[in-house]
Amino acid sequence: MSAKIIDGKAFAATIRARVADHVSRLKTDHGITPGLAVVLVGEDPASQVYVRNKGKQTAEAGMESFEHKLDAATSQADLLSLIDKLNADPAVHGILVQLPLPDHIDSDLVINAIDPAKDVDGFHISNVGLLGTGQKSMVPCTPLGCLMMLRDHHGSLSGLDAVVVGRSNIVGKPMAQLLLGDSCTVTIAHSRTKELAEVVRRADIVVAAVGRPKMVPGDWIKPGATVIDVGINRIDKPEGGTRLVGDVDFDSAAQVAGAITPVPGGVGPMTIACLLANTVTAACRANGLPEPEGLTA
Ligand code: NDP
Repeated sequence: MSAKIIDGKAFAATIRARVADHVSRLKTDHGITPGLAVVLVGEDPASQVYVRNKGKQTAEAGMESFEHKLDAATSQADLLSLIDKLNADPAVHGILVQLPLPDHIDSDLVINAIDPAKDVDGFHISNVGLLGTGQKSMVPCTPLGCLMMLRDHHGSLSGLDAVVVGRSNIVGKPMAQLLLGDSCTVTIAHSRTKELAEVVRRADIVVAAVGRPKMVPGDWIKPGATVIDVGINRIDKPEGGTRLVGDVDFDSAAQVAGAITPVPGGVGPMTIACLLANTVTAACRANGLPEPEGLTA
């Protein structure tokens, strides 16, 4: 194995410590405690785990955590009215509505009802537009975490060739915008891309966000390239049980890449750390204070 393993777990701990430090200064110097409200509708087991982890890490960083667990049958009108209340609550600096929502609720309508300044997931159409035009916005947490890891590893990304495989609104597209913002030459690949292996092979930076286990093999990777694996796929183990793998075939890619994120322990831990970072950023902006260094795009 030649690649450096980018340890997302350790880096996320560093980000969380930076967040906690900033929260402590906001409290001491300004009497402000950043607050994050997380809204969960229904009983999806995976969502419940995410929400629990978010609440725990928010509290550990010294912030207020407000959890709103609503019944699966909650009406869209009731959910919108909760969002209105949270928008108006000065103790709430960030609002996150856990997706997916039940089918009877229009997710876009709900996300776009959140005050864009409190939209710590960065999914509100205003934030999407601000990011797309290179203006100050709330940036989606997973791509922000990937960008932080890339900056940490490379220093400057200027002029590097980046290929993002996947064009979803929550990962692929914002990732490409962020890389463009850091002056990479960016290609976005997707299921209709021709000669995908050739396209990926040109990249100094590969971000895989597809949702297909081990789809990117080592012989698609340019020697020395940096590989960020966003994928989280659960596969069966031959001996029984399951395990998590990424969208990249880690064993073969690590023989060729210069640096690579593992799954688990790569991008995953960075996502919640960036949610905390976005909440502190939102609290600073809401109070006209300078933004924390190293926690924004
Ligand atoms: P989506 O399903 O929304 O998007 C997948 C993208 O991959 C689409 O753009 C699709 O192309 C493209 N794609 C599918 N098949 C191929 C193929 N054979 N070749 C090239 N491109 C292909 O997924 P998400 O973006 O939401 O998530 C991607 C992965 O990242 C998942 O494994 C998810 O679990 C994980 N994830 C991890 C997070 C974390 O915190 N680490 C957070 C969010 C997601 P097309 O548009 O043409 O259909």
